[in-house]
Amino acid sequence: MEQAGAGPHLWLETEMRRLDLDGATLFALTDAAPAPAASNYAFPEADFAAHPELTARWFPDDTFHTRFGVFALLCLDGRIIMVDAGLGPGPDPYFNGLGGRLPEEFEAAGLDPNAVSLVVFSHFHLDHVGWALDETGAPRFSHARYLAPAAEIAHWQAQGEEAALPHHVAAYRRSIAPIIESRRLEAAEAGLPIFSSGTITASLLPAPGHTAGHHAILIEGAGRPVLIAGDSWHNPAQIAVPDWCHRADRDQGLARQSRSALAERAAKTGAIVAAGHFIESEAFGRIAEDEATGALAYQPLHG
Ligand SMILES: [Zn+2]
Repeated sequence: MEQAGAGPHLWLETEMRRLDLDGATLFALTDAAPAPAASNYAFPEADFAAHPELTARWFPDDTFHTRFGVFALLCLDGRIIMVDAGLGPGPDPYFNGLGGRLPEEFEAAGLDPNAVSLVVFSHFHLDHVGWALDETGAPRFSHARYLAPAAEIAHWQAQGEEAALPHHVAAYRRSIAPIIESRRLEAAEAGLPIFSSGTITASLLPAPGHTAGHHAILIEGAGRPVLIAGDSWHNPAQIAVPDWCHRADRDQGLARQSRSALAERAAKTGAIVAAGHFIESEAFGRIAEDEATGALAYQPLHG
């Protein structure tokens, strides 16, 4: 996927990746975009042949396009909630030397990093924690609280080297362990407010499976609910076929259950879905029943 550079298209892209809500604006920022992969590499057990229309729609040329997204919710009082922290500056050895551009994304969107009041992690994989600390090892967003699901923290502390594949463990040691050691990382339980501003409140929603303590982030009081999905989905096809697991899903059975529950909740409540691994034009969407198939389907707001 082409990375955005400076130039006439940047503003248009920013507009497309901006969602105006009541009392807040949500920005879909892109830290980095890895090289597209073969769809059957990214989803090793998916039966693509059984779903030719879905495959053609969401995996063009049998290829999985993704990006490493970060969401920033700008509230009326100027404070920002940042959900996940991208791959980081790099160069990242696991992704062929890829480096992120989150600071440039903040600038292009007109967002002030010093206004980040809360950094919340959906989980601790390497593409979600990279900008947490600066080059000195101090929290990069110096005015922010740092917060993660209690279950995710507990899993990593209990499992150590066994918590995840080595590239994720290395990222955890680099970007998360120091925040825990300095007692700056807050552990949050699902269902309790983690942030509020005016009518807006944010809370965690359990979505285990991708990792043991993986959570989505629910924004309420903004006119309509917004579900920032974390890695519940890597591709919109998984909304129609929740059985399809990305290769990074640790517990596939639980991941399937969480995907189904989240899709049903979004459909029932009319929530806006915000997905950090969907390509930019598909980052925001709704979930509704497809009249032809009766299955749930993803409808991008802009795509
Ligand atoms: Zn991810």
